Amino acid sequence: MLHKGQESSSRRLTWVDRLTFKGWGCSECDWRFYPSGPPMGESLEEMKRNFEMQLSEEFASHGCAKHPRAKGPRFSS
Ligand SMILES: [Zn+2]
Repeated sequence: MLHKGQESSSRRLTWVDRLTFKGWGCSECDWRFYPSGPPMGESLEEMKRNFEMQLSEEFASHGCAKHPRAKGPRFSS
C-alpha cells in the first residue's frame, strides 16, 4: 500500500497524449517518463515487463517538487 507522509500520495501514472509528448507521466506534476533506451528482453513479454519495471521505478523515485507544472500566462489558450 501507499506510504503515508510522501510528498503527494495521490499522484499516479497517467497517459499523456499531446503533440509534443506521448507516453507516461505524473498526474500531479510535469514529470514524464523517458525510457533510457530501447526495451530489453528476449521476448515481447520480457520487454514489456522490463519496461513496466523501469517505468514504475522511475515514477516512484521522481520528486513532484522538481517537476513543477508550467503555469501562467505563457500557456493561456
Ligand atoms: Zn510527480
